[in-house]
Amino acid sequence: MYNAASINKTLKGELLQETGFSVIEHLLLDSRKLSFPETSLFIPLVSSRRNAHQYIEELYRKGVSNFIISEPVPLEKFPKANFILVKDTLNALHTLVAFHRQQFHIPVIGITGSNGKTIIKEWLYQLLEKDYNIVRSPKSYNSQIGVPLSVWQMKPEHELAIFEAGISQPGEMVNLEKIIRPSIGIFTNIGEAHSEGFLNIRQKINEKLVLFAKSDILIYCKDYLALNECVLAFHNQVGKKDSQEGGGPELFSWSRKTDADLRITSIDKNNEHTRIDALYKQEPLHFSIPFVDEGSIENAIHCVALMLYLGKEQEVIQQRMDHLSNIAMRLELKQGINNCSVINDSYNLDLGSLTIALDFLQQQQQHATRTVILSDILQSGKSDATLYEEVADLFQKKGINKLIAIGKNIGREKKSFQQIEGLKTQFFTTTDEYIQQFNSDDFQNETILVKGSRVFQFERIGKLLEQKAHQTILEINLSAISHNVKLYQSLLKPDTKLMAMVKAFSYGSGSFEIANLLQFHGVDYLTVAYADEGVELRRAGITMPIMVMNPEPASFDAILHWNLEPEIYSMQILTQFMEEVAASNKNEFPVHIKLDTGMHRLGFVKGEIQELAQILTATPLLKVQSVFSHLAASEDAEKDAFTQKQGRLFYEMSHELQKALGYTVIRHIANSAAISRHPDLQLDMVRLGIGMYGIDSSNAIQDQLKNVSTLKTTIAQLKHLEAGDSVGYGATWTAEGPAVTATVRIGYADGYPRRLSKGKGKMLIKGKLAPVIGVVAMDMLMLDVSHIPDVAEGDEVIVFGENLPVQELANWAETIPYEILTGISQRVKRVYFQE
Ligand SMILES: *Cc1c(COP(=O)(O)O)cnc(C)c1O
Repeated sequence: MYNAASINKTLKGELLQETGFSVIEHLLLDSRKLSFPETSLFIPLVSSRRNAHQYIEELYRKGVSNFIISEPVPLEKFPKANFILVKDTLNALHTLVAFHRQQFHIPVIGITGSNGKTIIKEWLYQLLEKDYNIVRSPKSYNSQIGVPLSVWQMKPEHELAIFEAGISQPGEMVNLEKIIRPSIGIFTNIGEAHSEGFLNIRQKINEKLVLFAKSDILIYCKDYLALNECVLAFHNQVGKKDSQEGGGPELFSWSRKTDADLRITSIDKNNEHTRIDALYKQEPLHFSIPFVDEGSIENAIHCVALMLYLGKEQEVIQQRMDHLSNIAMRLELKQGINNCSVINDSYNLDLGSLTIALDFLQQQQQHATRTVILSDILQSGKSDATLYEEVADLFQKKGINKLIAIGKNIGREKKSFQQIEGLKTQFFTTTDEYIQQFNSDDFQNETILVKGSRVFQFERIGKLLEQKAHQTILEINLSAISHNVKLYQSLLKPDTKLMAMVKAFSYGSGSFEIANLLQFHGVDYLTVAYADEGVELRRAGITMPIMVMNPEPASFDAILHWNLEPEIYSMQILTQFMEEVAASNKNEFPVHIKLDTGMHRLGFVKGEIQELAQILTATPLLKVQSVFSHLAASEDAEKDAFTQKQGRLFYEMSHELQKALGYTVIRHIANSAAISRHPDLQLDMVRLGIGMYGIDSSNAIQDQLKNVSTLKTTIAQLKHLEAGDSVGYGATWTAEGPAVTATVRIGYADGYPRRLSKGKGKMLIKGKLAPVIGVVAMDMLMLDVSHIPDVAEGDEVIVFGENLPVQELANWAETIPYEILTGISQRVKRVYFQE
């Protein structure tokens, strides 16, 4: 049990104010995720852009009374709080959790490497949960912040720990090593992929190996040659240096090619299974897994090596490997029946992942009712009474309105939930019992989280609640949008505000789904093209300011009613809007003034500014929130002189307007490309568009952005053709020899450009490019797949995504990514996920 005094002792900090009794159980790093104020310790992290000390006051008001700080705060304002002063809050977090780790003497598995960390961690959990009470990293918590939060979960009842570690630059692993201190190491693999922060692959490997400096054993695959060399050198070096302490880790290698502790002798794929034969200590060993892809095979062999190291019997290994199940590592948000939203996270359940899912549920504003379908939480290591009391407490904090609980254990703890005011509850013993009485009319306009332990098979409930999507879908990675927004935020000067462009259905990716996320990230403004887009966001509970770029007189009503903020770009629109505001008896209605600095699309010109200011100041009807202009060619280096000229003109004009208005307004001119290419034009605010969706039209920071959208479809039918057979409308393509073609479920009505007919367009099947043959039809098109082995009907086809950038598709179609993205038709269902 920790309290402020004991933590201060560990940190060797300065206890500035101590108010007596305190119990600290939870570490809070993100003020928005507060659940247990009384027992939380807030550690405000400081980066070049954000300083979380600013949230102390708000958290104090919400009942938090324990803080670590690295800069002075007005103590007299917080008389009931404990403050520990340290030099650096991130260091303090690391030191505190490293100390926590030292209190436990159980086997700790540490996993690092380029790919597979999370799957291996989750599979080991599946494989070993019968034998041990296991604590593990939630989701992919493997960073400088994720690792401490994971390790902090260790409790006396745990018997085995599994944590993953990931780094992005040299020097980071030393910290993670102290916190995880793994006794057993797994180095999954090493990718050749370029990674910023590292000089070369060896530097990257050696940095990752630091995790295992004090481990007893390191499991790795010898077939990565650079990895093998570095591991051997590491083994010798660490061995010598600490020879009195028994040296570095023993090695446990496996290989498909040469001698190793675990020698894989054959790999046989058939249908949905792979049989793997091996030799271990001269004895034959075999097992099979319900997967056939290379990644799964490698991950599975790592797991087997670990089970062998732990001394598991061959029979146990076989039996359990055979039952490995898919790890859906992401939380999906889909359209549900009866205008519901469904969050499906039904593959596993523990307190950590439940909290993450509830945070995501809370972030959803689109429906007033929030419902959770929850199963028993197994293997928590706590008594059911304590566990469900804690869950009930979480439900209350997160404002859940409806609980459907399934399972005997949770049913026995009904009372904890029934006490909560405003929470409707229903209890069932089994998933079958629930499904038998299921009535879709019970769900209307609500956001439903489906969260269950694997054995409860909640995917069956998910199927009942989700709207049937046809097989062409656009997947939107919400975590990637978050990453991209944060990346652009890091490029801004500390005081520059951020306006996010969500016009045209967020560049084709969605409406409230994206706006919820941006609101959560504290973006300052949203911008839509037309009033009805803004109304849709307001109806979905978005409360932040929304600018409308094309306010038409017919929409003024809606603008006033829903508190949208119009762009005023001409005298005519100005006077029309003022009349409307006057008629509705409003005052100081917020508007944004558009200036034309060279684009010659919309906006006031220089000669109009004095008159504009006179009209605006003559009555109190309008209040100018911001003044802005749009750059015509910020992505193009050859037009930089033009861009700078626009910038200077904007500076003059906005200055003149501000002076004439007599008050300051927000000035903004930079779009995505200008944020990175013309930092001097960031001014008071920037307008982020395409960059947030993962595309840098200037290519300056493309490699730091994450892919957001993936358009996928499936093969409807395969055809085996003979020489002379033709394909498609107009019979424009003819087979020259025997050929295999795939008919896929996407056409120009879905937004796939017809000009990509006749070989111009290509799609990815099993990692290989297949050209479009013949002409693109309304709902379908044909691909040549003659060169791709093992294709089957139903296989997934990637139209664009991470490995086939939408820019490439745009080039083939002689257009820009903006047109492709916004052209994907609304009949293509959007599926959102968070990693
Ligand atoms: C669309 C738009 C933007 C965003 O441009 P990107 O190139 O997508 O960043 C900014 N300002 C205005 C006025 C826009 O219409």
